[in-house]
Amino acid sequence: MTSSDTNVTDEKRFRIGEARQNGRPKVIEDMGPHLLNAKNTPAIQAAFLLSKGDTMSLDTLDLKALVRTIPDYPKPGIMFRDITTLIGHAIGFRAAIRRIAAPFEGEKIDAVAGIEARGFIVGGAVADRLGCGFIPIRKKGKLPWRAVGQDYQLEYGTDIIEMHEDAVKPGERVLIVDDLIATGGTAEAAVKLIKLVGGEVAGAAFVIDLPELGGVAKLAAHGVRCHALIAFDGH
Ligand code: AMP
Repeated sequence: MTSSDTNVTDEKRFRIGEARQNGRPKVIEDMGPHLLNAKNTPAIQAAFLLSKGDTMSLDTLDLKALVRTIPDYPKPGIMFRDITTLIGHAIGFRAAIRRIAAPFEGEKIDAVAGIEARGFIVGGAVADRLGCGFIPIRKKGKLPWRAVGQDYQLEYGTDIIEMHEDAVKPGERVLIVDDLIATGGTAEAAVKLIKLVGGEVAGAAFVIDLPELGGVAKLAAHGVRCHALIAFDGH
């Protein structure tokens, strides 16, 4: 390999790290378009684009292409839509959070409720973007304080999710966030929990919708508005 094959040398990589630590990066600007070379990692490309305030890529990036599909996981017949590849991509993650929050910006949202576990990752960042607090909705038995619970239907049997009983004050408007809506059973249980303690559901937002499974329609029947960034056919 010649030095011209390597657009980001070790020395330059060090300078990127240095620039990041010391705040926004004059050094990155100096290096300019070299950083956009396809050989560079998404994180380095992202650092350059974000340093340039490039909002176009945030608006136009194809998020669906960043989701990894794993056939027959966790069991035969399921197409598992894995968002770890999306949230591991610096621009992809930022774009997803901006696009999820966008319809709710300017509305009165008192809290985001994220559903364990991937809903914590997405929901926490959305709460920060909207400038509100975060409420964890967890599987039964995981919360440390007094909790209210709601059961919901799984393919075989039922499960229970819980929320702290004092997490929502009467009249507060809560946005539910999860990575994916399929049958809508989990999100519907979250709607019931929030209403049980006197909260109002401001909406429900997801990275992915599987429309054939009817979850959005299920929430609409409760008067809950849904927002999803990506749709996949099938299960
Ligand atoms: P549901 O209650 O049927 O809407 O299922 C939604 C919950 O199950 C979400 O918390 C998802 O993380 C998870 N889930 C369901 N189906 C899938 C899938 N095909 N790929 C990834 N996660 C899924």
